Amino acid sequence: MDYEIIIAGGGMVGAALAGLLGQAGKKVAVLEATTPRTFVVSDPFDNRVSALSRASQRLLEQAGAWPEVLALRAAPYENMQVWDATGAGLIRFEAAELGEPDLGHIVENRVLQLALLATLTRYPSVDLLCPARLADFELSPQQITVKLADGRRLTAQLLIGADGAQSGVRRLAALPYEVLDYGQKAVVATVYTALPHEATAWQRFLPSGPVAFLPLPHPQACSVVWTLAADQADAVLLWSAERFNRELAQALDFRLGELISSEGRAAFPLRGLHAQSYLHERVALIGDAAHTIHPLAGQGVNLGFKDAHVLAELILANQTADLGSLRLLRRYERARRGDNELTQKLMEGFSLLFSNTLPPWQWLRNTGLSTVNQLPPLKYQLARRAMGL
Ligand SMILES: Cc1cc2nc3c(=O)[nH]c(=O)nc-3n(C[C@H](O)[C@H](O)[C@H](O)COP(=O)(O)OP(=O)(O)OC[C@H]3O[C@@H](n4cnc5c(N)ncnc54)[C@H](O)[C@@H]3O)c2cc1C
Repeated sequence: MDYEIIIAGGGMVGAALAGLLGQAGKKVAVLEATTPRTFVVSDPFDNRVSALSRASQRLLEQAGAWPEVLALRAAPYENMQVWDATGAGLIRFEAAELGEPDLGHIVENRVLQLALLATLTRYPSVDLLCPARLADFELSPQQITVKLADGRRLTAQLLIGADGAQSGVRRLAALPYEVLDYGQKAVVATVYTALPHEATAWQRFLPSGPVAFLPLPHPQACSVVWTLAADQADAVLLWSAERFNRELAQALDFRLGELISSEGRAAFPLRGLHAQSYLHERVALIGDAAHTIHPLAGQGVNLGFKDAHVLAELILANQTADLGSLRLLRRYERARRGDNELTQKLMEGFSLLFSNTLPPWQWLRNTGLSTVNQLPPLKYQLARRAMGL
């Protein structure tokens, strides 16, 4: 066999899994369809970023990629403030009160992917094939043969689908999935604000959906995720820069003052997806290929990293087993499905609770936020949980 494991998709989650397996000497091929744009320090900030939890940072350290992430570009955030537009409800988390240096890091997705892919070149047992697109696969009792779009064929014991929400591996394995269109889109952009962000992640819940300003490594630059009904989001994309800057500053209640400028405006449809099974003979799904969630608490890639962690541990603890056997892979699915499902449903629940304009619900969420804010033990238990500690 050419490899023990083939990973289709060298995005953040697939590359992290390859790093975890590669530093343990596993023979792995990573297939990535698109060559990521190289990074230079003078590049403007990308509009796609992720809020990484402490648990994700640890996983990236374990995969050997964290120093590379910091060497490229990342912003630690020390505080988080969440409040409701319809009342006085507010909750604020501060790393200092937890005795931690920060609550997490904001990293551009491309930077994270590049750091991970660069790390893989240090592991002699890992081959990164890029560009290389998985087109099909074929099963036989002992192995799986992966066919690439350029005609190459590779064999392995196990194929991992880390190829994102539109997963080709999921489709080829005929794994059924449930999908819920939230009827919303996330408008993203990079903005420069009149006031400094103070290393704080700011999030305000409006009846139309939450708006988040995530701090970037410049005192006045933030990455924005503004959730709106799909048709509203489409209209926002057509606004002049002046109107966009004015209305977005207002959506955050001018907490960071007026917007000086904005760039990279784009919108992404929001859907919740969950594969009914993550497994097929010699095939397993991880990350967005298995599940996507509402981005309101920035947990999507953090969940994917947890999948990668569990699967890597399982593979490394079973060195002599057939890695493609369903018996082994079921332990991965059992360990991850519950957490992924619970997080997905929680995000959907929060989204409904915070967009409800009926007075009892407004009272409930405002009282809830303020009450938890005044109960430090509960508040910090929640914060530690969100950080994955
Ligand atoms: C607006 C928005 C904001 C978000 N913010 C956050 C946040 O703050 N924190 C957070 O944790 N999550 C966030 N998320 C979610 C996060 O972006 C995703 O969970 C994450 O990108 C999933 O990573 P992945 O590696 O599983 O998939 P992807 O990032 O989709 O990567 C899949 C990779 O597979 C490759 N590929 C696809 N098909 C093939 C093929 N046939 N052969 C070879 N390669 C292939 C693709 O080129 C791609 O590189 C957000 C999502 C949205 C929409």
